[in-house]
Amino acid sequence: MRLIIEARLADGDNDTVEEGDGVLAVVERPDGCLAELGLTLAEGQSLLAKVQTGLISKQVKQWLSGQTHCQSCGAALKHKDSRSTVLRAVYGKVTVKSPRLWSCACQGAAQTPQRVVHPLSKTLPRRVTPELEYLQAKWAAHLPYRRATVMLKEALPLDKGISASGIRNRILDIGKQLDADIERDIAKLPRTVADVQVRESSHVAAVSVDLAWLRNCDSGRGLGRHVNIVAGHGISTPSPVT
Ligand SMILES: [Zn+2]
Repeated sequence: MRLIIEARLADGDNDTVEEGDGVLAVVERPDGCLAELGLTLAEGQSLLAKVQTGLISKQVKQWLSGQTHCQSCGAALKHKDSRSTVLRAVYGKVTVKSPRLWSCACQGAAQTPQRVVHPLSKTLPRRVTPELEYLQAKWAAHLPYRRATVMLKEALPLDKGISASGIRNRILDIGKQLDADIERDIAKLPRTVADVQVRESSHVAAVSVDLAWLRNCDSGRGLGRHVNIVAGHGISTPSPVT
């Protein structure tokens, strides 16, 4: 038997169906035999990678068709050249053609030279989907970068789409973003008002607190079934050396 998988694109506006680029996959199995049951990992990866390539290519092409005019005045933007852009997603990397355009004259002063605009790079500066970033961060949190890369490549059709150094750089970027978020949150905290007495100690530099629930071995005497233990530890500010 042969299972033939094809793709067709249906336009949402007028329901026209565009023929796809042909057959996505042909799965062949011997009749009357269950020795090769279901899809193999390689067959599944190949199929998903082809679907990904077709989908992203169509999405980008359709989106770019709406970027050829100035967002402010509606004038057509002049074409400068076209670049190949690599986009990374969970089912592999896809190379798409994306144009570079000259900015509209309405966007600057008369003496200002026109700028080159690359709409795709501006919209997707990292050129990676959030889902792939999430998977890279999650796996790298549990495994060494190199091992996380091998495991992701084994499960997903990523091939040369990711690398250990790329995951490391991504983790560093995410760490910087988290640090910046924390610093922003700290900056939003209420400030001490000079005239209000605040209960705080200037002698404590750091506080660590831990908490645990222990099962009571003798709960029949009205003591409850569990005991909550809270332990705290304060570190004093070192005295200045005189
Ligand atoms: Zn304009």
